[in-house]
Amino acid sequence: MIIVQKYGGTSVGSIERIKAVAERVAKTKKDKNDVVVIVSAMSGETDKLIGLANQIALNPEGREMDLLLSSGERISAALTAMAISNLGFKALSFTGRQVGIITDDAHTKAKIEKITGKMVKKALAKGFVPVIAGFQGVTETSEVTTLGRGGSDLTAVAVAAALKADLCEIYTDVDGVYTTDPNIVPEARKLDKISYDEMLELASLGAKVLQTRSVEFAKKYDVPVVVRSSFNDHTGTLVVKEDRDMEKVAVSGVAYDKNQSKITVTSVPDKPGVAAKLFQAIAGAHIVVDMIVQNISSDGKETDISFTVPKSDNRKALKITEEIVSELGAQDVKLRDDIAKISVVGVGMRTHSGVAAKMFGTLAQHRINIMMISTSEIKVSCIIDSKYTELAVRVLHDAFDLGEGKKGRGKSKG
Ligand code: ADP
Ligand code: ASP
Ligand code: MG
Repeated sequence: MIIVQKYGGTSVGSIERIKAVAERVAKTKKDKNDVVVIVSAMSGETDKLIGLANQIALNPEGREMDLLLSSGERISAALTAMAISNLGFKALSFTGRQVGIITDDAHTKAKIEKITGKMVKKALAKGFVPVIAGFQGVTETSEVTTLGRGGSDLTAVAVAAALKADLCEIYTDVDGVYTTDPNIVPEARKLDKISYDEMLELASLGAKVLQTRSVEFAKKYDVPVVVRSSFNDHTGTLVVKEDRDMEKVAVSGVAYDKNQSKITVTSVPDKPGVAAKLFQAIAGAHIVVDMIVQNISSDGKETDISFTVPKSDNRKALKITEEIVSELGAQDVKLRDDIAKISVVGVGMRTHSGVAAKMFGTLAQHRINIMMISTSEIKVSCIIDSKYTELAVRVLHDAFDLGEGKKGRGKSKG
């Protein structure tokens, strides 16, 4: 079998952890598998590098950021290759460029266009363990790029797809994908399996256990993914195609996202073309708008429009909105940073009714006000005051019977 193993920041967070990774790789090799390793930067390293840059510039050039950030993964790749060699197995470290991970030129959030993988295939054929620096690629014109936060997951899935690997194992600091973040709700249960679509929703709604784009990629190319812990030998969670069993429960997980901001434009004239003008300006700055709510005011002449954007883009979005307020004939613009998005997800929602009502009722019971709502076929999301995030996650987790010993999908922890 060809097995791709990705180790996240905590899993390579110290020399001891890197040696433990090497042991696991050696064991997988001894079991007669070809192994390709992808590593993240050591834990905290990427944040530290961003901190250094921000001491020099608040808005550094993406090109310089990418060269800076890609260095973290290089360090762990080289150290991990040394640790594997120490155990008597042949290993070679590679950068994104050496692997031929070709991306577009959207610095700090580049998309993979293709992977040539020549050096990796050659190394595998000669019995080496290729150890690839995750999170990075290179443009056609040889500029270094990075793939967005959590991007080593994408490197792993994309390399697994390119090599037609039999399995892509994502090693992290929890035992798998849980009904909600186990670091917030200790009663959260590990799921034995989860569908690509549910995982996609959970990831894009804030569950950072897998990067959203890596799940999209896995779904598109049918890459079998397992999320498991690098700290033990528990079986983990399989991310796979949907099966009939999965529809039995309405909700399979709860996610939260504190990385959003809300912008409200008040007293906007209620006439055609206003929303188009506003959102064209925002989109023109490559800012992704998530939720939008428009209230019709009682006199029918003016409305309020609220929308959410990623926190990292909020100043830019505020500035653009302020600039066109007078052009729109609106009154005022307000920014709120202290919001959170709480979501419940499950493919069972397609066949079970009453999920939204139960969610709203549960939040109301705990006096948590809902500012915005959005739904899709398999999720319901609410924007609330961020100070209630943990409370909301816990009470929803409980209301939908997701806790340990309850009847929902999955088994107990471990
Ligand atoms: P790595 O450094 O290995 O890539 P991450 O920190 O990116 O790890 O992702 C793992 C973390 O994701 C966990 O420590 C956990 O706090 C968080 N998390 C959020 N939601 C979930 C969930 N539903 N299941 C498991 N972990 C989750
Ligand atoms: N080191 C990068 C980050 O912290 C990529 C990754 O860990 O996947 O976002
Ligand atoms: Mg991660």
